[in-house]
Amino acid sequence: MKYKIALIRGDGIGPEVVGQAVKVMERVGERFGHTFEFVDVLLGGCATDAVGKSYPDGTAEKCKACDAVLLGAVGGPKWGADKPAEQRPETALLAIRKDLGLYANLRPAALRPAMADACPLKKETAEKGIDLMMVRELTGGIYFGKRDRYETEDRGVEATDLMAYSEKEIERIGRRAFELARLRRKKVSSVDKANVLETSRLWRSVMHRLAEEYADVVYEDVLVDNCAMQIVKDPGQFDVLVTENMFGDILSDEASMVTGSIGLLPSASIGDCAPGLYEPIHGSAPDIAGQDKANPIATILSVAMMFRYSFQRSAEADAIEAAVDAVLSEGWRTPDIAEPGVTPIGTVEMGERICRHI
Ligand code: NAD
Repeated sequence: MKYKIALIRGDGIGPEVVGQAVKVMERVGERFGHTFEFVDVLLGGCATDAVGKSYPDGTAEKCKACDAVLLGAVGGPKWGADKPAEQRPETALLAIRKDLGLYANLRPAALRPAMADACPLKKETAEKGIDLMMVRELTGGIYFGKRDRYETEDRGVEATDLMAYSEKEIERIGRRAFELARLRRKKVSSVDKANVLETSRLWRSVMHRLAEEYADVVYEDVLVDNCAMQIVKDPGQFDVLVTENMFGDILSDEASMVTGSIGLLPSASIGDCAPGLYEPIHGSAPDIAGQDKANPIATILSVAMMFRYSFQRSAEADAIEAAVDAVLSEGWRTPDIAEPGVTPIGTVEMGERICRHI
């Protein structure tokens, strides 16, 4: 197959980690007989420097002409909150997600076997294994609802944020979760606050309807407060967790911490049609940029997700994940995950070692 991939290298460590991910793709291409056309797309602080705005005209069109988008990271102190919105990298991130219609954010939190010691949970809990997929609704809910701030007569200033969800929005994210569960261990846990919120009661009723349709998938409702506890108490019980935007924002960060390092975790944002956008969950790490210290594994595992979810190529995805696990179990570590006494290797060497195992 021939795949056309948009590369948003971005700022800080972005270009370094994307560089290693590209090497991995090329190695996968050699082994499995694929070729790639890479299209560089300028976005973020580097775009502000080059053309005066973080989201240059035509960015979405360039990406839409590709099969998938790989993004390193954007942002940095140089393009901070004092800059006008069109120059800030965060504006570009929101815009690209919206323009590509990406409504589902997939964040796996998996404890890689060789990294069990990095898990901050009890040893017995880590030993049971952690391999969950958080599916977060990305374009609705309280982050996108009407907001207001106004004077009242007797209570001073008051502010409101509206949380709204439609059946349609809930159904499309729900279907994503059930479909994903069918590719995994066939369990969906839907997270809500149905004992309090009307949006959650609607959420729950739509999920129950879907659960009947996907009768081969085990389904459960989990209240968000209980879910936050269960993620630290017994994360091994979860397979696919599906939830609305704000709950997902908070729970996905919690889930990623139980697996150890931020430098290991990939993510995908997908919509109803290509291209999906794949990126590490970490930022541009300006403190270590340009020093060959960044861990490229999160970006490399994002490529594995790309093969699995955009190209339906699970053998290629498995090969990448197995190569990462092999290098980690041989003891190779970048500085962020090196135990005391271990001499770390650099970004480039980590990328090369992973390639050699594919
Ligand atoms: P960050 O994720 O960039 O860094 C947090 C800490 O983790 C730093 O100490 C950093 O050195 C370390 N770290 C992150 N990724 C690493 C890697 N791959 N290997 C080794 N160490 C790694 O978060 P931050 O410092 O809060 O943000 C820095 C910039 O990144 C900000 O401008 C922020 O807006 C931006 N950001 C961008 C994205 C994105 O592009 N999607 C996401 C989050 C933050």
